[in-house]
Amino acid sequence: MTKYETDQIFKSGLQNEDDKTIAKRMSIKAKTIASYCYRNGLIDSNIDSISECCYCHEKIEQKAKGKKRLFCNDKCRSAWRRAHHMLIEHVYHHVCAGCGTAFKTAGNKSQKYCSRQCYLNHRKGSAV
Ligand SMILES: [Zn+2]
Ligand SMILES: [Zn+2]
Repeated sequence: MTKYETDQIFKSGLQNEDDKTIAKRMSIKAKTIASYCYRNGLIDSNIDSISECCYCHEKIEQKAKGKKRLFCNDKCRSAWRRAHHMLIEHVYHHVCAGCGTAFKTAGNKSQKYCSRQCYLNHRKGSAV
């Protein structure tokens, strides 16, 4: 992912988005945040040992093993996400039970239809 792309994704959070943009934004991973922070000078360049919380810039000591921490605590993580209009929730892939179209939702595991129209159509059809 280039810096340009990442910037576009972050910016798009502030504007109306089309499906593609949302899907792209939704698939952002923690690693991407790390590199975004890194590129923008939000965290220490010594990324592997000690870094700063992406949100409050407190120093975080990284454990030798395991995932790199980007935030000192969960509060900072969610505050940062809100600040960047980002949704990093899990993306669920579905197939519409009405029209068969593949679609995605963020954080909504149980959605069955791609649209309200499909939901209504399908309910009408299956009520026979
Ligand atoms: Zn913090
Ligand atoms: Zn549908």
